[in-house]
Amino acid sequence: MPVADSGRPLVLVVEDNPVNLELVEAILDREGYHIVAAASAEEALEQLRGLRPHLVLLDIQLPGLDGLGLMRLLKSNPETAGIPVVALSAHARHEDRQAALAAGCVDYIAKPIDTRTLPAQLAAVLRAPRPI
Ligand code: MN
Repeated sequence: MPVADSGRPLVLVVEDNPVNLELVEAILDREGYHIVAAASAEEALEQLRGLRPHLVLLDIQLPGLDGLGLMRLLKSNPETAGIPVVALSAHARHEDRQAALAAGCVDYIAKPIDTRTLPAQLAAVLRAPRPI
């Protein structure tokens, strides 16, 4: 399994908006991450059959199964339950943040994505200790 590509942390970005995806990819590439993209929850599940990313950046508003639905599946599977997931959402409302955190997301980033703070937010998640 391609867990790490020469030591670069592997991030799975689940985002259906191509403009946002390009933006996130550009930022993460510059920061030295290895990126795999999925345009839907279904595509992300396919990717996760063969990948163990260090982190998942998950858009909540997705066609088909949404981000919270995908979270429930990831948390119910011991193979993926431990992967830290950061939610991305167009909603900055308190309830949306609470729903994402309650579903098991470790952090919540409201869109529009702040290109200046995203790298530090992701680095903090990757540095945080995980339960084994
Ligand atoms: Mn979306």
